Formats: sequence, structure tokens, C-alpha cells
Amino acid sequence: MATKTKKIRHAGRFGAGYGTNVRKKLNIIESLQRKKQVCPHCKKQGVKRESSGIWYCKKCDKRFTGHAYYLEKQA
Ligand SMILES: [Zn+2]
Repeated sequence: MATKTKKIRHAGRFGAGYGTNVRKKLNIIESLQRKKQVCPHCKKQGVKRESSGIWYCKKCDKRFTGHAYYLEKQA
């Protein structure tokens, strides 16, 4: 038997009712925003999203602004 949230991952918390495409997009964005990202100052992978548009690098202890859900667009 398949797991309940196999395909829809993060979007599982919304249940049905938002449509497949919306939930697919949400997964892409949410998996990006929770990943550690490369710091533009020290070029290390240590940047975490603190809140919308606010990013914090724990390697060089800098807090800075960026896009709401990701730092740089990843292909
Ligand atoms: Zn840094």
C-alpha cells in the first residue's frame, strides 16, 4: 500500500482542494527554501532562511535580505 503523502510531500498538509498544479509548485518552493544555500559573502553553504526574505549565514554571521523563498534561482 502506498504512503499517504508519497507524491504530494509538503503539500500533504493542505489535502485536496487546491489542485495538483498548485501543490506541485508548493513542493518545489518549499524544498528550496528549507535547503541550506550558498552565502554570497563567504561562498559557503551555510545560509538558512529565517523568515520571508531574511537570510542568515552562520559561517560568517551575516544576516541579509534576499528573495522571499530562495536566495538565488537554482535551475
Ligand atoms: Zn557567509
